[in-house]
Amino acid sequence: MNRVVDLHCHSRYSDGTLSVGDLVTLAKSRGVELLSLTDHDEVSGIPEARKHCAEQALAFVAGVEISSEWRDMSIHIVGLRVDDKNAVLTSLLAGARKARDDRAQRMDDAFEAVGIRGALAGASAYAPNPDLISRTHFARHLVDSGVCGSVGEVFTRFMKPGKPGYVAHQWVAMQAAIDAIHAAGGRAVLAHPARYETQFLGGPSTLLKCFAEAGGDGVEVVCAAHNPPEWAQYAALARRYDLLASIGSDFHSPMESRVKFGDLPRLSPNLKPVWHDWPEAECLYA
Ligand code: AMP
Ligand code: MN
Ligand code: MN
Ligand code: MN
Repeated sequence: MNRVVDLHCHSRYSDGTLSVGDLVTLAKSRGVELLSLTDHDEVSGIPEARKHCAEQALAFVAGVEISSEWRDMSIHIVGLRVDDKNAVLTSLLAGARKARDDRAQRMDDAFEAVGIRGALAGASAYAPNPDLISRTHFARHLVDSGVCGSVGEVFTRFMKPGKPGYVAHQWVAMQAAIDAIHAAGGRAVLAHPARYETQFLGGPSTLLKCFAEAGGDGVEVVCAAHNPPEWAQYAALARRYDLLASIGSDFHSPMESRVKFGDLPRLSPNLKPVWHDWPEAECLYA
C-alpha cells in the first residue's frame, strides 16, 4: 500500500497561516488521501474542514493537538477521530485556551522587562482566532517588527525555558488529556516524541512506557520533527509498547514548515497504523 496519510496539521484557528479551505486544497493537491486537522487546543475549525474535505473527496477525521504536561515537561497529545462536540473535550480545551490568555499576559510582562513593549498587542494582530494565542504569534510579530530574523531565532533567543520571554506554564496533566480524548471517542497519539528533552527523565523509552500505561493509544513514528534514524527508533518503541503508529507533517505554513504535505515516507508495514480500523480509511485499501 502506498497511500498518503497526514494526521497532524494546523490552520489559522491555531498557529497555522492558512485558512481551513486553503489547507484542505493544498493537502488534496499534494496527494493526501486521509487528513486530520489538529489545531492546538481548539476544534472550531473542524466543521469547515469536514465540509471542505467532503467537497474535495478527501477522507477526514476530526482531530486536536492538546498541550499537556508530564513530569513538569510540556507534551503534545494529538486526539484523532474525536467527537468535536463532546463536552468533556470542549470544556478541557476551553480551559486550556483561557490559560493561554493568562500566559500571554505574563509573556507580555516578561518581554517588557527586557525592553520589548507591546508584544502581546503585536502578537494578537497575528492571531486570527482571538481565542487562541500561541508563542508562534509572538514569534511572527517579533520577526516582522525586526527584533529577530526568523521565527526559529525568536524561540532560541527569547521563548525557550530560561530565556527572557519564556514564562513557566502549567498545562493539563497528560492523563487528563488522554482521558478527554477517550471521552470524545478518539485515539490519543503522542506527537513528535523526539522533540521532548527526556534525557533526565529516563529517555524516550520511559515517556512512551508511561504514555502507554496512562492509556495512550499511539505515537507519531513518521513526522517532520524526526530524522530517518528516529523513524526507526520510534518504530521499534511503538512495537515494544504496543502502540499504534501515526504519520503527521505538523504543517503550519508554506513559508515556515520544513516538510510539505505528501513528502513524508510511508509507515513501515510491520507497524499497526492508528487508522487500521477506521471506516474513513477504507479508501486507502480500495
Ligand atoms: P505554544 O503552544 O503557544 O507554547 O507554542 C508552541 C508552538 O510553537 C509549536 O506548536 C510550534 O508551532 C512552535 N514552535 C515551538 N518551538 C519552535 C521553534 N524552535 N521554532 C519554531 N517554532 C517553534
Ligand atoms: Mn504550532
Ligand atoms: Mn506540537
Ligand atoms: Mn502541531
